[in-house]
Amino acid sequence: MKMESQRLYQQFRRTVEKSAWILILLIFIIEVIVAVLMINEQLLDVNQTPLEYSLSYVVLPTLINMECAAVYHYIEFKTTFSESKKNYFLILVFNTFCLSTSLVHNALPLISLSFILPIFLSAIFGNKRMTDRSFWLSFISYIITSSVGIYYTKQLTTMVYLNYTAGAILVCAGYLIAKNTIIYQKKNHDVLISFNERQKIMIEELKKDSLTQLYNHQTFYNELNEQIQKTRLNHQPLVLAIIDIDDFKRVNDTFGHVKGDKVLLELSNLMKAYKQDNMMLARYGGEEFCILFENTQLHDAYSFMEKMRLDFSHIEFAEMPSTRITFSVGLVELTSNADNAVSLVEKADLAMYQSKKEGKNKITVYQKNSA
Ligand code: GH3
Ligand code: MG
Ligand code: MG
Repeated sequence: MKMESQRLYQQFRRTVEKSAWILILLIFIIEVIVAVLMINEQLLDVNQTPLEYSLSYVVLPTLINMECAAVYHYIEFKTTFSESKKNYFLILVFNTFCLSTSLVHNALPLISLSFILPIFLSAIFGNKRMTDRSFWLSFISYIITSSVGIYYTKQLTTMVYLNYTAGAILVCAGYLIAKNTIIYQKKNHDVLISFNERQKIMIEELKKDSLTQLYNHQTFYNELNEQIQKTRLNHQPLVLAIIDIDDFKRVNDTFGHVKGDKVLLELSNLMKAYKQDNMMLARYGGEEFCILFENTQLHDAYSFMEKMRLDFSHIEFAEMPSTRITFSVGLVELTSNADNAVSLVEKADLAMYQSKKEGKNKITVYQKNSA
């Protein structure tokens, strides 16, 4: 995210630099036109030659502006300054650019309003401190150019002072707008972030079963497919266990569905308590659950399930006096290359039904000939 915004700032600085070169050219053209008019209309000061005028009002400001842009170009492309420093340089160079143009053309107080531009420019970087600094730089530059302007004004009228005061107020107003833009941008950014966070949480929620918070049927198959591929690539063992609660219908019929739900929750909590990093837990549907053992040998998965089966069978459920609930398990190891997620579940299911046939509350490992 930070990298992305830095890349955008870099793009922005380079675009501003290009605009600056175009601006320099435009100012140069205007200065040449004004110089030609001034010389032709003989409006120059009595002790000023056309060459002196051209040097002071056309060549010198253009050279200063070109130098500013060239220095910036060097900083942007040839130095290893941090991105933040380069952002500051851009503001500084733009300010110098405005300062030289305003000082040279102090007869036109309107040009001093250009000091608003570096303030707005700084707002793009979303850094309040930078905008504060940019404001002070612009404001001091404005005071300098106004003082020089007032110094050279032949007829100082109230209107002249009013014009400069209005200019100062506009620079301050520009600062306030820039600052509010940053605050608004930040709030907008925070809203987007929290929206993204909420979206991530919702996507995670969609993957789960609402009662037990274990992975749901769809997520189970997605994960199983992924694990099968991974296992084949890494040549590691993969074992699947299907768990089915014994006589669960009777539990519901005797104690009601709410109590039945509590049993489902109790089993899922036990599974979570047992869970290790290499296991994936899911509620397949109804009172059937799955555990996928990644990189686990069949006998280890068997011992694990055996311990869980015994622990579950000893749980005493509140408001279900002298009732012990058990489950049956079917275990299968991924061995055949022909197996996929569905066929693996079918095999685990066959083994689980074998446990049911043999009296329930037990674990059966899938054998090829048990099909
Ligand atoms: P078996 O030992 O052969 O597995 O018998 P069983 O009674 O467990 O199996 P059966 O398939 O006959 O019944 C499963 C019951 O699970 C039926 C259904 O009402 C109940 N069930 C499925 N989902 C839920 C649930 O979310 N909450 C509750 N309370 N019961 C559920
Ligand atoms: Mg069942
Ligand atoms: Mg059952």
